[in-house]
Amino acid sequence: MCKECYSEDARITPLLNARECLEQHEQYVCSTCGRCICIAKDQNRGLYRWNFPFKTLSIAKLYLRAAEVASNKCCTIYEVKNHKSNRISYKIFADQWIAEEYINKNTTKTIVPVYKNEAFQTFDKHQIRMLTKTEVTKYLEEKHSR
Ligand SMILES: [Zn+2]
Ligand SMILES: [Zn+2]
Repeated sequence: MCKECYSEDARITPLLNARECLEQHEQYVCSTCGRCICIAKDQNRGLYRWNFPFKTLSIAKLYLRAAEVASNKCCTIYEVKNHKSNRISYKIFADQWIAEEYINKNTTKTIVPVYKNEAFQTFDKHQIRMLTKTEVTKYLEEKHSR
């Protein structure tokens, strides 16, 4: 596992619409393994990719580093249970009060913290940037040859 971005696979992300994400969104480029993690804020909703719910804990962990870097501290992954649909999802929150606010707004859901790193490692600011066309092509080639 990468000690910086917590992934086993250094080219696993973006999971969906990889080219579009790499070409159009700012990425956190892991200085250890080179993995790109989308760190762009959605213009319409004002949310980062890592603010959205994830299907599994392991997918949430792929975005945890982006959450930590954007928040400049350790963030917590919560298991979210929707008692109406009986569905489980995972969400990252930077602070407990934000998680509590979410639960106050979503009364059919309950949350349990399931994962948090012990320490936040600092990073080089230049790792948050747009990729060049050449970098996108190379990254996608590497991603597809795995
Ligand atoms: Zn993206
Ligand atoms: Zn990494």
